[in-house]
Amino acid sequence: MERFERAERLKRLPPYLFKEIDRKKAEVKARGVDIIDLGVGDPDLPTPPHIIEVLKKAVEDPGNHRYPSYSGMGGFKEAVAEWYGRRFGVQLDPKTEVVSLIGSKEGIAHFPLAFIDPGDVALVPTPAYPVYHIATMFAGGESYFMPLLKKNDFLPDLDAIPGEVAGRARMMFINYPNNPTAAVADRAFFERVVAFAKDKNLIVCHDAAYTEMGYDGYQPPSFLEVPGAKDVGLEFHSLSKTYNMTGWRIGFAVGNREAVDGLGAIKSNIDSGVFQAVQMAGIEAIAGDQACVDEMRTVYTRRRDLMVKGLEKAGFRLRVPRATFYLWVEVPAGYTSAQVATRLLEEAGLVVTPGNGFGEPGEGYFRIALTQNRERLAEAIERLQKLNL
Ligand SMILES: *Cc1c(COP(=O)(O)O)cnc(C)c1O
Repeated sequence: MERFERAERLKRLPPYLFKEIDRKKAEVKARGVDIIDLGVGDPDLPTPPHIIEVLKKAVEDPGNHRYPSYSGMGGFKEAVAEWYGRRFGVQLDPKTEVVSLIGSKEGIAHFPLAFIDPGDVALVPTPAYPVYHIATMFAGGESYFMPLLKKNDFLPDLDAIPGEVAGRARMMFINYPNNPTAAVADRAFFERVVAFAKDKNLIVCHDAAYTEMGYDGYQPPSFLEVPGAKDVGLEFHSLSKTYNMTGWRIGFAVGNREAVDGLGAIKSNIDSGVFQAVQMAGIEAIAGDQACVDEMRTVYTRRRDLMVKGLEKAGFRLRVPRATFYLWVEVPAGYTSAQVATRLLEEAGLVVTPGNGFGEPGEGYFRIALTQNRERLAEAIERLQKLNL
């Protein structure tokens, strides 16, 4: 018997599907095996030096030691609005259509508290980043899962959502370029989402963490580029992947002012904003020299090409991703995702993420994160080919 019984919202958390992999990983490591971890979506590269320099100076300024403004520094919100104009041709009012976040995960996790009441529905993709569903549940809402299937290019089939469900839905989560499937969405899809959201009167939450990780000249669009998008939605963005800043905890949400304002109202009662020195470094990241972003793309393009070629040679099937640093690989016939992940770990020392860990329709796939250098990836390929699955 536990002394402190946990609240329903924690008791209702879905089982942690990576628990088994984590346990096996520790076991294999204890045997002294050299493990190559392709599991976590956390860049191995350091934050570019010009961003670190700005933080160092800003830390020493006592003006930055006090509580920041809840919704974000004016300068940071202006830099975000300018970046949206430059990058996407989207005009934003920095005062009312931008809010800074302690990482985009924080904003996504808090957003349903602003617009979901008990019994309300959120339309949630699956397989997906787990936060959309869990945040909905924490707010007392119910998730209606939209499967992302290969036959639909890993886009949700809006026509398959029952009218009764759509009628009760307050919001829809989407995420392109997508984690974990590495799929991309074009403007035509976003146009269909805007029309659907207008018809059903729901808020679209687009998680845009990977828009800057496009390859071969492909520039993933913003949801807000589509006419009418700002009437129905907001977009969550992050500096984490673009500038190798996962540890810094800075992101932002932009778009519909009522949605941004609702999120700000929740946040002002929970946290007290982002450390100003970190926001100043964030300004340097998005308004400063963007050569580091080109370098990042070059690094991942080369890793992607190396790994795709190696996987294909070893007999695996996958689509060559145009964006994100993930590969969504089909498991060979006769295996489950978990069986492949287990064999790769136990017999080759390779950590990959079984697709069903992101939701049941992810069964039949495993995810590789390209967060190891080329030498390590080449070593991983060698082991894969020897394994002969
Ligand atoms: C990495 C990632 C984020 C970014 O999270 P931060 O809190 O900004 O670090 C958001 N969404 C998805 C799908 C991600 O993979």
